[in-house]
Amino acid sequence: MQIECQHRDEHSCRFLLSGALPSFANSIRRAMASEVPKLAIENVRIYDNTSGLFDEMLAHRLGLIPIRTEEGTYVPIDECTCEGAGCNRCSVSYTLSVEGPGMVYSRDLIPDDPVAVPALGDIPIVKLEKGQKVVLEAQAVLSTGRTHAKWQPTTVCGYKNYPCLTIDARCDGCGACVDVCPRNVLRLTGRCVAVDEGRLEDCSLCRLCEKSCLSTGIGETPAIRVGIEPDRFIFNVESDGAIPATAILRQSIRFLRTRADELSRALEEIAEG
Ligand code: SF4
Ligand code: SF4
Ligand SMILES: [Zn+2]
Repeated sequence: MQIECQHRDEHSCRFLLSGALPSFANSIRRAMASEVPKLAIENVRIYDNTSGLFDEMLAHRLGLIPIRTEEGTYVPIDECTCEGAGCNRCSVSYTLSVEGPGMVYSRDLIPDDPVAVPALGDIPIVKLEKGQKVVLEAQAVLSTGRTHAKWQPTTVCGYKNYPCLTIDARCDGCGACVDVCPRNVLRLTGRCVAVDEGRLEDCSLCRLCEKSCLSTGIGETPAIRVGIEPDRFIFNVESDGAIPATAILRQSIRFLRTRADELSRALEEIAEG
């Protein structure tokens, strides 16, 4: 099995997974979305709220703000020695106090850990008119997307099979498939069609090219065939800013390895009786 990174920056990465079963590709996708822990606001104590939003809506919006999470800095609150009380090993506290007129932004949340700031400072929370006020304390804790979507570190996390296009000798270069392709994957070369250089991975496997070829009256089967490489996948991952995209991938692989080791040990124990 091999992972080949094609693009990466702070917020996104694109990579090829080769030599893997579809079930394993799906396991990586699920682990990235649901098993990588991050901080999110879970408890809110509202001292004053004269804005146009109910307390519950305000708390809901706060919960969805991505919080920067350094790997290994915090432990899940239910595994902490404080037994759920909340301490600096398992939670981050924030204060927010804003008076109108003006917009309350995510940057108005002041954390007691300067690293655990909102990933973006300009996320609007609520607009205040003159004389309106919001004063609150919030507590962020570590958990995973399996518990709630607000702990999901990815905004995009998907894959597709690696495309495989074949064109047989019956192709007469009519160009119907080139015109219909929505991704500009194909081009005419003389009296034949070919995949444009570097564009194969853009193919969405929509098969419109096959249909258009059939509609030219070529026969029972099209001259162009769309297939997949069954053990090769193109992944696209985008982070919400809480954790860098490549760190999400690394942590998801570590999660899968740990779970596989646990399963292997359990099977050994069963085999030993
Ligand atoms: S399957 Fe769709 S995207 Fe791919 S080459 Fe054919 S028409 Fe283009
Ligand atoms: S539609 Fe068929 S015959 Fe026409 S260029 Fe495409 S593959 Fe060739
Ligand atoms: Zn604790």
